[in-house]
Amino acid sequence: MTTIDTDPDTGLDPLEFAVTRNLAAKSPAERDAILASPGFGQNFTDHMVDICWSVRGGWHRPRVSPYGPISLDPAAAVLHYGQEIFEGIKAYRHADGSVHTFRPDQNGRRLQRSARRLALPELPVPYFLQSLKELIAVDGAWVPSGDDQSLYLRPFMFAKEAFLGVRPAHKVAYYLIASPAGAYFKGGVQPVSIWLSEDYSRAGKGGTGAAKTGGNYAASLLPQSEAYENECDQVVFLDQDRNVEELGGMNVVFVYKDGTIVTPQSDSILEGITRDSLLQLARDRGHHVAGRNVSLDEWRQGVASGDIVEVFACGTAAVVTPIGVLKGRDFIDEQPSGTLALELREELTNIQYGRAEDKHGWLYRLDA
Ligand SMILES: *Cc1c(COP(=O)(O)O)cnc(C)c1O
Repeated sequence: MTTIDTDPDTGLDPLEFAVTRNLAAKSPAERDAILASPGFGQNFTDHMVDICWSVRGGWHRPRVSPYGPISLDPAAAVLHYGQEIFEGIKAYRHADGSVHTFRPDQNGRRLQRSARRLALPELPVPYFLQSLKELIAVDGAWVPSGDDQSLYLRPFMFAKEAFLGVRPAHKVAYYLIASPAGAYFKGGVQPVSIWLSEDYSRAGKGGTGAAKTGGNYAASLLPQSEAYENECDQVVFLDQDRNVEELGGMNVVFVYKDGTIVTPQSDSILEGITRDSLLQLARDRGHHVAGRNVSLDEWRQGVASGDIVEVFACGTAAVVTPIGVLKGRDFIDEQPSGTLALELREELTNIQYGRAEDKHGWLYRLDA
């Protein structure tokens, strides 16, 4: 078991995880075969972590157990009312074999903000960090070492109380599972085409847009199908005032001719940690960075006039994706292509994989 000291900020003692080894764990040969071509989200490691929460007992029964199905009462609140939140974060193997993750305190705090909005209990950040270390302690061999490969970590929390009344659940479960991930773009980063969703929105004023919750994704699936029907890769959503929000799983960033970088900011947009990090790297290079409303008109006119010189999307899974085309019901706007998005992508991934100096102290070692 990993040893962690009492947290200096919260005074919380570390949890004592009960570890049950998976006797049917994949053999090293089976694991290597999976890691040779992991894809995304299809294969899972041998173990998972869970921690229970109840109104009476608080956080309790922290466990590491064999990965496998969860047994739920059919009346579990999550199945009816969608009281659920999640996170997405990666573990990277460095050249010396060590395993690191990136700004996990930010994910831990965002999980707490999501929990607040969904009326779920807030997992203390030290417990969140400990859960990542506990899983790596048993499944560290699942962190791949190939180019652009990582172990995708998926923390999530849901209402498991069996009760059909509508109120915040009194029993909740936190889980952590992990899935090896291959390079997102095989054969180099490709620009994506984006469908403008005019009939559907993903979030509303005062809604759950800023929380990482399954319901936002459920709402995005129909417009995503519309995007496919229109031969686009992804959807971009607008707010009620026709300002640009985000892609539904990635934030949007605009680069202007004078070097200014602008990203939409409102309480209906999820605050991406990738975006925050890229914008910090841009500031370090002397770019002026602003978070503000960007209307669809500003986007389209800026591209037409040459004022906007680059548009890209960003998130943990793909890191950075240039936007090549914006397509609406009655227009197709080719997007200008620049070099900044890919330069920032390179700079960020160099830090994550230990190939460049971590000036901001963003890395967090998981295997020690
Ligand atoms: C997770 C997510 C993002 C990207 O956030 P990162 O922290 O950069 O991974 C963007 N939008 C939505 C809706 C998300 O759920």
